[in-house]
Amino acid sequence: MPRLLPAGKIANWEEISGIGAERMPDRFYQVCNVIRESQNNWLRTHWVPRNGAQRIYVELKFTLRDCNSIPGVSHTCKETFNLFYHEANGESGPDFDVAKFTKIDTIAADESFTHVDVGDRVLKLNTEVRELPSLSARGFYLAFQDVGACVALVTVRAYYKRCSATVRGLAMFPATVAGAASSSLLVVPGTCVPGAHAAEVPRMHCSSDGEWLVPIGQCTCRAGYQQAPGNRCRACRPGTYKAEAGAQPCEVCPVHSSSLKEATASCTCHAAFYRASTDPPSYPCSRPPSAPRNLISSVNETSVILEWNPPRNSGGREDVTYQVLCQQCSASSCEPCGHAVHFLPRQDRLKAPTVTIAHLNAHSNYSFTVEALNGVSSLATKVPQSSAIVNVTTNQAAPSEITAVQKEGDSGDSLTLTWSQPTQPNGVILDYELSCCLKDLREHNCTFLKVKSRSITVKGLRPGAVYSFQIRARTVAGYGAYSARVYFSTTSTLSGEMKEITILGGCIAMVILLLVFFIACFISGGFSHKGVCFTVKLRRIKTYVDPHTYEDPAQAVHEFAKEIGVSCLAIQSVVGAGEFGEVYRGVLRLTEQPEVLVAIKTLKAGYSEKQRRDFLSEASIMGQFEHPNIIRLEGVVTKTTPVMIITEFMENGSLDAFLRKNDGQFTLTQVMGMLRGIAVGMKYLADMNYIHRDLAARNVLVNGNLVCKVSDFGLSRGLEDDPQAVYTTHGSKIPIRWTAPEAIAFHKFTSASDVWSFGIVMWEMMSYGERPYWNMTNQDVIQSIEEGYRLPAPIDCPLALHQLMLDCWQKERSDRPTFAQLLAYLDKLLQTPAALKVTSSTNASEAMGVLVSSVKQWVFLELWRTHTHTHTHTHTLTYTDTH
Ligand code: AMP
Repeated sequence: MPRLLPAGKIANWEEISGIGAERMPDRFYQVCNVIRESQNNWLRTHWVPRNGAQRIYVELKFTLRDCNSIPGVSHTCKETFNLFYHEANGESGPDFDVAKFTKIDTIAADESFTHVDVGDRVLKLNTEVRELPSLSARGFYLAFQDVGACVALVTVRAYYKRCSATVRGLAMFPATVAGAASSSLLVVPGTCVPGAHAAEVPRMHCSSDGEWLVPIGQCTCRAGYQQAPGNRCRACRPGTYKAEAGAQPCEVCPVHSSSLKEATASCTCHAAFYRASTDPPSYPCSRPPSAPRNLISSVNETSVILEWNPPRNSGGREDVTYQVLCQQCSASSCEPCGHAVHFLPRQDRLKAPTVTIAHLNAHSNYSFTVEALNGVSSLATKVPQSSAIVNVTTNQAAPSEITAVQKEGDSGDSLTLTWSQPTQPNGVILDYELSCCLKDLREHNCTFLKVKSRSITVKGLRPGAVYSFQIRARTVAGYGAYSARVYFSTTSTLSGEMKEITILGGCIAMVILLLVFFIACFISGGFSHKGVCFTVKLRRIKTYVDPHTYEDPAQAVHEFAKEIGVSCLAIQSVVGAGEFGEVYRGVLRLTEQPEVLVAIKTLKAGYSEKQRRDFLSEASIMGQFEHPNIIRLEGVVTKTTPVMIITEFMENGSLDAFLRKNDGQFTLTQVMGMLRGIAVGMKYLADMNYIHRDLAARNVLVNGNLVCKVSDFGLSRGLEDDPQAVYTTHGSKIPIRWTAPEAIAFHKFTSASDVWSFGIVMWEMMSYGERPYWNMTNQDVIQSIEEGYRLPAPIDCPLALHQLMLDCWQKERSDRPTFAQLLAYLDKLLQTPAALKVTSSTNASEAMGVLVSSVKQWVFLELWRTHTHTHTHTHTLTYTDTH
């Protein structure tokens, strides 16, 4: 309680002893001048320092006597007194000026007493609390003014509120004086308890009532410490660790590690055990692996295949890889192998226990060290024996490829070339073979020359022409690989005047040729339809090259297909599943070329070398074709896995599924347009001497503009990946329903057997993807065909088209139309809509009339028809031919 000082000359308060609160003896001030009027008795406290408090409360405990209980004082007796305060920065002595004090309130009693008995009186204590206005000085005085009451001040307590120091969420919050305003919340930052930390400083709010409110954030025990009762973090004991901050407890050290000190975040590995930088502290410590076992080598000319078994002890890890070191040895010493040596798949970071080492020198001794490594090998100071060694002697081998071929001279009809010796002759070079090809579309016009020296003059060349050259060396071990193709041109020997004459002569010859040609067309009637034959006759026909004729199929791929870097491709979605792996849709971005949508065929992992060859053979074939109705090859990815074939993307996928999805949705002209596209594509293939063997709607792809393109090329394999193909008695796989009888029976595949398949595709198209011969068995199909039955016209199929199908299904293959004839016939039909109106449901005699009159117009087709129809004995499965 602030010490109350007597109020000097105007004070009538007296300090007396009595029994205070809780019946304890106490001192208090009292005044009781109730008889005389105009009382003004002051009592003042000493100076009370504020100590930073914002809101100050004053609690008074007092007794007040009831005026009615004192006889004869009703005019003078009061039952209240006044509370005053005065702000001051320090103590100002016992005297004071009441004028400086400001009144806080008039204080009245809730209880009063009527009976004063000093010896044994019953005190009725009143308690009143008042709040001081906000203060700015360092302290204050309180004063009490009595105006004629009988009052005893027992206690005066001045106090302020604060939030007391506390620990919450492992954070310590200091004692905080409450704010000034009644609604204020003071934000108080906390400090984490020892061993704890927080990413963000935790906070709490101190209310004006001195209560902690709204905790935000908390601390967690840091690494090496775990939470313990009493809001604290306790250090992990020796032998245990805690790797990260958090609520989890300390754990026992992992195998092969220990901790000797308290508060360990990561246990220390035992001697000769290690932890890789990427290993989490919870991993057991590990050590380098032991040596690979049973290392064996097999030598193939100048290549060596090494194979071994994994180490007996992996060191407690799963990331064992191998590294191969190569040394070439003479009688006295060994030297590291040069850069020319190739390691397949690579020299280090080998996961599989095998490696092929190529491009070694012939007849040489090598020592190979295979070292097993794991994630801690580089940390080990004392490396256990982790490598195995094998010594190898290479065999004789053909010379390596010649790399530098140069043109030395050129005299119009001859070229002189020189070249350097192969980097690895692998023996005495007997001679060189030079291939010289006139550069035309496929470079088939080639001459081969032999020479002992490293230069040659090739004579008898065409002046002003481009030739390609390749050279290979020969030793007793045979020929080496051909050098890369180089192109040199001979200079033109014509003078300016001569050139003009030649050009003029050429032009005259051309005009004569054209005249002859126009007359021929006119006579045959073909001239009337937009000069189709004109372009056909002048077009250069290429020939398909069977990739099997290449010694190395990989060479065929690179001859016909462009290698694409996998980084140029962005895969978007799966569109199908091929025999070799998924087919994806993607985007191909080649530098300086517009982005193209592509289909990406992949070769799934785990393939054999033969499967890879077969897979890529499709690209070797496709790459030779360039036609709007043949699926276009963009390139291949062979340098990385998975191996891929990239083709143009066909939005509508395969034709059979597309037809089934759009049953009855297309006009006849649309269907015939698609059919025509397939015929054009097939004619192109036939002209290239390529026999497809598996033409079926499922092997035709359709793009967004309904353009059909023939796809699914393979070698004679062709049919291995066709689910429709079945084994015949010859042991080969054949899609019976699509294949001509002679191909099934004698394996006689020709363009004429492709024409049979084309007839089936026509039927598939006209029936919107119906299965040929429905659910008949393959045996029944073969037998029915043999007996002369043929598929009937699909519903609403124009008779002319069904007749064309029947023509394709002539038993004698020479009676079938060629693709060129088929195409011309389809074109004629497209130009004669009346002929397409007749279907099997139309009146028969009317139908025959239209057909006959239409057929009469088809000048060159007539010839073929009159020839073939004399042999016709076919009848369909549902109706017998009336001829
Ligand atoms: P394939 O291995 O050629 O039989 O392809 C399997 C499936 O992939 C086909 O049935 C098509 O649905 C899809 N597909 C293949 N090539 C392409 C392509 N160029 N464009 C769009 N889809 C294709």
